Amino acid sequence: MYAEVRDIESLSPSLVRVHLTGGTLDAFEGTPATDGYINAQFIPADSPLSVPYGPEDLETLDPEHRPRPRRFTIRRWDEATRTLTIDFVAHGDSGYAGSWAQRARPGDRLQFKGPGGSYRPAPEADWHLLVGDESAFGAIGASLEALMAGDRALVFAVVDGPDHEISFPSAADVDIVWLHRRSAEAPETLLVDAVAGTTFPAGSFDVFVHGEADETQAVRRHLATERGLDLTGASISPYWRRRFTDEDWRRIKRQWMAEQQAAV
Ligand SMILES: Cc1cc2nc3c(=O)[nH]c(=O)nc-3n(C[C@H](O)[C@H](O)[C@H](O)COP(=O)(O)OP(=O)(O)OC[C@H]3O[C@@H](n4cnc5c(N)ncnc54)[C@H](O)[C@@H]3O)c2cc1C
Repeated sequence: MYAEVRDIESLSPSLVRVHLTGGTLDAFEGTPATDGYINAQFIPADSPLSVPYGPEDLETLDPEHRPRPRRFTIRRWDEATRTLTIDFVAHGDSGYAGSWAQRARPGDRLQFKGPGGSYRPAPEADWHLLVGDESAFGAIGASLEALMAGDRALVFAVVDGPDHEISFPSAADVDIVWLHRRSAEAPETLLVDAVAGTTFPAGSFDVFVHGEADETQAVRRHLATERGLDLTGASISPYWRRRFTDEDWRRIKRQWMAEQQAAV
């Protein structure tokens, strides 16, 4: 599938919202998951490839000119206007996806596969725990938007500073704990320290924790060990890893996750 950039919004200094329409989106089918994602293919700058392309176009292409796959959450799929909205972290010039979003212009094309996805706030839970950095804000935002009046959510969200906070519209009763890296002595433990230092509301809850690998793992370990939670069915995964490109990270991710889970 492919789509074209309709317009771009700057949500914060570190988040770029891209609305995609046209292309083959008439055939796109949304997912009930609020962490639904596409596997987008980013073409290196010096590649002769252009969107749309087929498998036959890749056969003769040098490996360095092949598209780089990256997963991105569907912040919103608007069935009526057939518009796909994605919130990209603008993390500088390194990599393919973040820099593509920062440079995106109307008419630019993006090819992708999907969607996949598995989490949706459990209706039977008394409240919902959502923890993450900017890469998880698409899923956190979609989850909060799916909640109804009378539902409750507790969110821990880490950003660089107060000017990087964004709004998460929701009909539910949402308590957001914003954490700021810039003013923190230990930015990489902000999430786990905040979660560990909080008295949770009473009642049953489901768990959604996504973002940087070491940070999500620290929260997972805390929930499993210090809180003694059974995390079967919890939605916890490392979306990216500091100092690793997505290719390098995917190469070891499965084994790393197995080792981390075995270590708890
Ligand atoms: C299911 C799923 C859904 C995801 N949804 C989203 C989403 O909606 N929005 C989103 O922005 N990301 C999302 N991600 C994460 C995204 O796929 C990765 O961050 C990816 O590495 C970005 O690719 P890149 O080409 O920009 O950088 P890469 O080439 O992969 O990496 C280059 C450098 O940038 C660093 N880097 C990568 N991501 C970040 C970041 N978020 N912050 C700071 N530094 C970073 C790397 O550690 C590396 O040093 C999702 C990941 C998964 C698995």
